[in-house]
Amino acid sequence: MLTDPFGRSIDYLRLSITDQCNLRCAYCLPAGHLPFAARSSRLTPGEIERLAACFVALGVRRVRLTGGEPLVREDLEEIVERLARAGVADLSLSTNGIGLARRAAGLRKAGLRRVNVSLDSLDPARFAELTRHGRLSDVLAGVEAALSAGLEPVKLNVVVVRGVNDGELAAFAELSRDRPFHVRFIELMPMGVSGFYAPERRVPLPEMRLKTGALEAAGDSRPEGGGPAAYYRLPGAVGTVGFIAALSCSFCAGCNRMRLTSRGVLVPCLDGEEGLDLAALVRGGASPDEVRDLIVSAVGAKPAAHAMLGRSEGGGRTMCHVGG
Ligand code: SAM
Repeated sequence: MLTDPFGRSIDYLRLSITDQCNLRCAYCLPAGHLPFAARSSRLTPGEIERLAACFVALGVRRVRLTGGEPLVREDLEEIVERLARAGVADLSLSTNGIGLARRAAGLRKAGLRRVNVSLDSLDPARFAELTRHGRLSDVLAGVEAALSAGLEPVKLNVVVVRGVNDGELAAFAELSRDRPFHVRFIELMPMGVSGFYAPERRVPLPEMRLKTGALEAAGDSRPEGGGPAAYYRLPGAVGTVGFIAALSCSFCAGCNRMRLTSRGVLVPCLDGEEGLDLAALVRGGASPDEVRDLIVSAVGAKPAAHAMLGRSEGGGRTMCHVGG
């Protein structure tokens, strides 16, 4: 079992398999064509399997595939299959849902267990504006396909932005009343390279709760997962409503994860892109022992907490590299 210098057990890896994305969410990326990394630099399915086996040997049991947008990789199904083969017990995917309708059943068959779908507005025009061209109907079709394929629980991640979607929280919560959706409201974080972040755009946790309406304890409805969300539910609802508030309510004390960036660098905290280059090591023919030693050193460099509090702009850190 991996333990960091602050006594936290690390059993969760977030794996960014590409920095490319087919949307341009205003708070995440600038508009237009971006200089994404060359395809040749991304980890191959075989490299991912070898690395995953090393993490599993060290006690990591959860892996979440993220990006960028994982569905832009046409070999995602093979990656999933190889991770399942490497012994990852809980394999999940973060996606914007574009194209998921077509691939959900195949991904389930390959060994994927569950999905988180990002969905920031239920209004088609607002959704298109915020994502700079996304079609809401594509995402909703993906969400339905995920449920039908048995990719459960389905979590819907909503980044709350003042003046954009902060009037939709009650409507989002309603999605969980009769169906097993787990809607999670995420505080906007000072990340990104689009110049969008400003403290006034962030809706702090108490205000998000107020805008959501009356909630009760989630009880048995709390979904499976290893993350920092605090869960509640609408009275008597089937699904839940969760809140993830990196700034209002730091969750670092319970952090259980490491991140492998789209460039194969193992970083110890979401709030940073510095780390140890696992891709170079594995490409240089390192043995599993050497890879495991490097993972242990990276865990040893985990900071006690992120440094986002008080930052007034995006910080130049990109979720698409680090893997949001
Ligand atoms: N493309 C996938 C998706 O849409 O879920 C995975 C990558 S995306 C970077 C992961 C998550 O990070 C998304 O839910 C996105 O909304 C969130 N995110 C990106 N920038 C953020 C920010 N500045 N504050 C809060 N969440 C952010």
